[in-house]
Amino acid sequence: MGTCSENRKSVPELFGSSVFNDDVMQERLPKDVYKSLRKTIDEGKDLDLNVANAVANAMKDWAVEKGATHYTHWFQPLNGITAEKHDSFISPTSDGRVIMQFSGKELVRGEPDASSFPSGGLRATFEARGYTAWDPTSYAFVKGDSLYIPTAFCSYSGETLDKKTPLLRSMEDLSTQALRIVRLFGDQKTKRVITTVGPEQEYFLVDKKLYEERPDLRFCGRTLFGAKAPKGQELDDHYFGAIKPRVAAFMKELDEELWKLGILAKTKHNEVAPAQHELAPIFTTTNIATDHNQLTMETMKNVAARHGLVCLLNEKPFEGVNGSGKHNNWSVSTDTGKNLLDPGKEPAKNTQFLLFLAAIIKGVDEYQDLLRISVASAGNDHRLGANEAPPAIVSMFLGDELAAILDAIEKDEPYTGIEEKKLQTGVHVLPDLSMDTTDRNRTSPFAFTGNKFEFRMLGSAISISCPNIMLNTIAAEEIRQFADQLETSTDLEGDVRKIVRKVMKEHKRIIFNGDGYSEAWTEEAKRRGLLNLPTTVDALPRYLDQKNVELFTSHKIYTEAEMEARYETILEEYAKTLNIEALTMSQMVRQDILPAVSAYVASLAEAVASKRAVCAQLPCTAETALIQSLSTLMDSAFEKVESLDTLLSDGKVQSENTLAVATYYKDTIIPAMTALRAVVDEMEVNTAADFWPYPSYGDLMFRV
Ligand code: ADP
Ligand code: MG
Repeated sequence: MGTCSENRKSVPELFGSSVFNDDVMQERLPKDVYKSLRKTIDEGKDLDLNVANAVANAMKDWAVEKGATHYTHWFQPLNGITAEKHDSFISPTSDGRVIMQFSGKELVRGEPDASSFPSGGLRATFEARGYTAWDPTSYAFVKGDSLYIPTAFCSYSGETLDKKTPLLRSMEDLSTQALRIVRLFGDQKTKRVITTVGPEQEYFLVDKKLYEERPDLRFCGRTLFGAKAPKGQELDDHYFGAIKPRVAAFMKELDEELWKLGILAKTKHNEVAPAQHELAPIFTTTNIATDHNQLTMETMKNVAARHGLVCLLNEKPFEGVNGSGKHNNWSVSTDTGKNLLDPGKEPAKNTQFLLFLAAIIKGVDEYQDLLRISVASAGNDHRLGANEAPPAIVSMFLGDELAAILDAIEKDEPYTGIEEKKLQTGVHVLPDLSMDTTDRNRTSPFAFTGNKFEFRMLGSAISISCPNIMLNTIAAEEIRQFADQLETSTDLEGDVRKIVRKVMKEHKRIIFNGDGYSEAWTEEAKRRGLLNLPTTVDALPRYLDQKNVELFTSHKIYTEAEMEARYETILEEYAKTLNIEALTMSQMVRQDILPAVSAYVASLAEAVASKRAVCAQLPCTAETALIQSLSTLMDSAFEKVESLDTLLSDGKVQSENTLAVATYYKDTIIPAMTALRAVVDEMEVNTAADFWPYPSYGDLMFRV
């Protein structure tokens, strides 16, 4: 819990107080050191060792004042979470004492033993060496007893083993290509083009005591069994509802912890499902937004624990109510602060905007598969296409005005505008609101929302790194193509119109402004030839398609070997996740559920016996019926768990071919799990609550 003195700090004082940010650097670094560090941060200039030494020393002094005793290189391996290994600052002196020391070398490079991080075969376990390299573009910070240094992680032979390096590369790449365009439009000032992201994070909170009682939550972060509670989300009374005091206390402390870390936590509210909530930060540079989202997820878990709660970030904690996602709001702007996706007052005349828009339309259509793959995980498969999240089909929503403008360009007609609407409140004391030219579309996977795109397919648990690597690289490729054409143009306006027209002719199938959740759309999308990749296993093989390998290798984001490694890692993780879930189910059924139901049946039988001892003719209809139906269900559950275990020990799960293994889990294990669950949930409904070994859905969702 935040200490009293911290709580008394004003928000501006609190904000960034644990971060070695620009203010602290200016205050604590010699002028020349600060200047050359800034050059490294802003322009990617190499850092010399003297500067690194000075920075390290200042960082250490500052961190020690904040109570730090250790430092850690903080990195983001392929498992999608963060990793850290802590070293203390102590250094022995000749007279047997210690002093606190931290060198430039230690700041710039680390060498964690890397043998146990997923590498998709890039690095055999005996080649354990991995390096971490300081990323000066994301500020260091103090958390607990340690100074955290954001770093990139790569292998001895230079392959990237993390999610940060390719992200930084993709940002750089997009900047290079987008600069070519803004120059064509007369902008000589901009030095870099930046992508920005604001990730809205959904999560569930459950009571810690209840959580502890459920092995499925402890091992898998989601329930594997659970009969529906009498009430779910049907009344829509939780969405934006009043926040309960216990949750409010959690949220308040979460905000404070995030603010200390310099994270721009802005909006908090209850979500659709009971016990579901959301936090949205103010957007920032993609690299930092990614680091911050990782910290946000971790802080949510830590703060929840201090309130006797557990924060569930899994995409599908409960069957029958919405799962959790993450909306990746993405935009592109110049370092001078101009948002390149802002259409302005007259989008029809904003040629540069239309060109960027066309690049994104073309890119999303050509690389639908990559966007789908970027959000693929066993957990997210429960959401996409399940009437609660965008479908597994990638499409774009542009809204009425942009659609009309593009339509006019395609037909080579003048754009006459669409009617401006006023929203009349009908109440004199309230102002009439000028309406946005488009309503929102909540069902689109990729929606234009005014001056940014909202990519809505992300699951709540995943790192936002991969989706943004894809977005940046795809955009960079399309912009590169346009820049190649336009740099020799003598009629910029005319040639841009030609490009936009061609893009519309060839790619407008990706634009869909209707209801993405409807059956009709699935049919329509099929007619349009759009991809529908419902599961991770359906999507992943396309990752290594020639066009995708060409994209990433030509933009130097990944080597082909690095792509293969990522492909292997995702499929392996998919299979492992399902394996853990299946084993957990089996254990729960064998060790808790069957014994519990058996005990309940025995107690019913005893009741019948003792009743009949009083009067032999008593019918005992209820007990007898329950004994019969529960016995049948027990037999069925037993048969199904036996069969699941047999399937799990099948030689197929040992195959070297990760795609074959993942496919086996999808096609064989998941149906066996589903069948087992159905029987168990039916037993739960018919078993006395006192006997059922786990807290129910009702307890979990309505007892916070
Ligand atoms: P809404 O989803 O209702 O449009 P907001 O406009 O507040 O809500 O935006 C949602 C998220 O989008 C926030 O995290 C916000 O910071 C982020 N966002 C706004 N502008 C941009 C931008 N230019 N680039 C990236 N993210 C942005
Ligand atoms: Mg939103």
